[in-house]
Amino acid sequence: MANLLWLQGGACSGNTMSFLNAEEPSACDLVTDFGINVLWHPSLGMELGENLRKMLDALVSGEMPLDIFVFEGSVINAPNGTGQWNRFAGRPMKDWVADLAKVANYTVAIGDCATWGGIPATAPNPSDSEGLQFLKRKHGGFLGGGYKSKAGLPVINVPGCPAHPDWITQIVVAVATGRGGDLTLDEFQRPKTFFTSFTQTGCTRNMHFAYKVSATEYGQRKGCLFYDLGCRGPMTHSPCNRILWNRQSSKTRAGMPCMGCTEPEFPFFDLMPGTVFKTQTVMGVPKDMPLGVDKAGYIKLTAAAKAASPAWAEEDIFVV
Ligand code: SF4
Ligand code: SF4
Repeated sequence: MANLLWLQGGACSGNTMSFLNAEEPSACDLVTDFGINVLWHPSLGMELGENLRKMLDALVSGEMPLDIFVFEGSVINAPNGTGQWNRFAGRPMKDWVADLAKVANYTVAIGDCATWGGIPATAPNPSDSEGLQFLKRKHGGFLGGGYKSKAGLPVINVPGCPAHPDWITQIVVAVATGRGGDLTLDEFQRPKTFFTSFTQTGCTRNMHFAYKVSATEYGQRKGCLFYDLGCRGPMTHSPCNRILWNRQSSKTRAGMPCMGCTEPEFPFFDLMPGTVFKTQTVMGVPKDMPLGVDKAGYIKLTAAAKAASPAWAEEDIFVV
């Protein structure tokens, strides 16, 4: 039986909501099928006050083993590095994080705030927030670049705003059942099994992307959201069109642009007015290209695509 503790720092609880909606496996399956002992979780934890404090102290002292330490939300350092703005069980949350990360077999950061600081760490970052092992793209974060959990892995980052429910539970099950060593992580410590392909992989609008046919309104069924509406699908690593949301759909399938929420820079352009859901261009060419495509290649490709575009690409082919 693996002991799991889930704590929450500077967060909106979005990843908790996501976790509770997991289906394959569900949060209940973790307990009944995979023998995970959820010691405490912000929405499920039974212990309060002194009892909770005793349990945390027992984990820190090693009296009780901590197999999986899950952290959701940013680590808050304000004011002046004290962390007093985010207290939990009698002390700054950041002190608990430092102590628990030392004794955990695996440390897992869930969601953008825990991985890279997310929205709380966006300039001017008043809460002096950071992620467990990154601040945006910069390696280090609260635990420092050299941190490794007892099992020898750095923080396992499962980003997203929020992370997809099943990414969370599948990673938790992998480490709880002794397969943590099989996980390969990318340069941002994201499990490659989820974060090697792009949001665009499997998007139903790929034909429209190829022929440079643009969607001009949210929810429009034809057209690609890259050219006008700021879709970041071609440069965002996520399986959102392979592992569907609610097993049904995805943002881009429903006609909403991908905002790149699994990348360290999210939210892009620091949410400056006019930058959200709007493709940023220089002389008519997108500032951010599909990953690996250069400007000259993009211009050639789109000119050819536009010239070759068939008539049906401009029609709503989803009408039956
Ligand atoms: S809508 Fe986005 S993800 Fe889909 S094809 Fe267009 S750019 Fe790619
Ligand atoms: S489609 Fe993009 S913004 Fe939406 S959840 Fe996936 S990676 Fe995040």
